Amino acid sequence: MDTSKIIDEYDRYRNSTLNMQASENVLSPNARKALSSDMASRYSLNMGKYNAYGGTRYFDQILDILKNNTNKLFDCRYSDPRPLSGHVAAEISLLAILGDNRNVMAVSEEDGGYPGYSENHLGRVLGYKFHKAPYSNFDLDYEELEGSIEKNNIGTLILGQSMFIKPYDMKRVNEICKKYGTRILYDASHVMGLLAGGVFQPDALRYSDLVYGSTHKTFFGPQGGIIITDNEGIYNTIEDNTIFNTMDNINLSRIASLSVAVEEMLKFGKDYAGKVVRNTEKLGGNLLEKGFGLVHGSEHSKTHQILIDEEYLKDKGFDYLSFSEELEKNRIIIDRFGRIGTQEITRWGISDMESISDAISGICNRLNKIEEINNLISEKMLKFW
Ligand SMILES: *Cc1c(COP(=O)(O)O)cnc(C)c1O
Repeated sequence: MDTSKIIDEYDRYRNSTLNMQASENVLSPNARKALSSDMASRYSLNMGKYNAYGGTRYFDQILDILKNNTNKLFDCRYSDPRPLSGHVAAEISLLAILGDNRNVMAVSEEDGGYPGYSENHLGRVLGYKFHKAPYSNFDLDYEELEGSIEKNNIGTLILGQSMFIKPYDMKRVNEICKKYGTRILYDASHVMGLLAGGVFQPDALRYSDLVYGSTHKTFFGPQGGIIITDNEGIYNTIEDNTIFNTMDNINLSRIASLSVAVEEMLKFGKDYAGKVVRNTEKLGGNLLEKGFGLVHGSEHSKTHQILIDEEYLKDKGFDYLSFSEELEKNRIIIDRFGRIGTQEITRWGISDMESISDAISGICNRLNKIEEINNLISEKMLKFW
């Protein structure tokens, strides 16, 4: 079978499933069309006075519109949509922020943080020392935080997580960091769409130096990254520091697609994000009612994610991998770390969390729920575009 045929098969397969992977979303037809436009094979490199490449007049216009709309959406002064991914946005941001102080604190992987910040990854690449943020009960341990920042002379604190269900007390973090001159970076990769809709951590930017993250998890964009800030100095450093350091081409079609997504967010972001959070609450509540095990704190999830209790699965004879495989046999797709996300099904217009919870908990009890899932899938109708 040649690749084009496999792509058709792939699309058919994915259309016949319910994707509940917490780090993914679906693109609108307009955002998708942008990705396969002629821009997909072009360059653009703004040199200030002129563009180093010809033929870019329409693209330059799109980039301008995108930046203006992004500033409006997040109520910020500056934005940079060039990062090729959330990880690259983190790298660019850290390069701009890290000075002589190379002590960086972030939530560790064991606590649901992003593995990329550890000593083996960005710590090694950028030459900083990684410190684990004090953390308990799915939140920062604020009592410990101040002592740890002082003792370890932390220059940069990175907030935000991959397993992310609770907002932080940003005002308190900011007060502590101000005392020690510690910079605050907020990695909103998972919750960018919820931030844009104003339903989660609305004070993220107000109490940090910059916010960055992926554009494709709860946000409506193609895979990519974005940085937003109110700090002119940091923005200028990022402007100057990015090309030929962390990347060269900026993927024009991705940027055009992101621009479509930001327009969709401006129109529908509030409605969408509110529904995502309500669906998560309902799904978590319904699952708990059925006796399904969620990690402590999941009933209070304020995001798009709930986290499955591994011990509960073990009692039922599953682990994260085998349960994900069992769900997939019934056409529900989740990852293999126990996260379930509601953002994509919300975009597909699905609000029947009772049926989904019944299916998930039933599958965990070895029942076949394919008919129930097929009924839900047949109702998929893309919203918010
Ligand atoms: C997904 C994620 C990233 C990396 O984003 P990519 O777009 O996959 O490069 C960074 N930080 C957090 C917290 C994430 O969840």
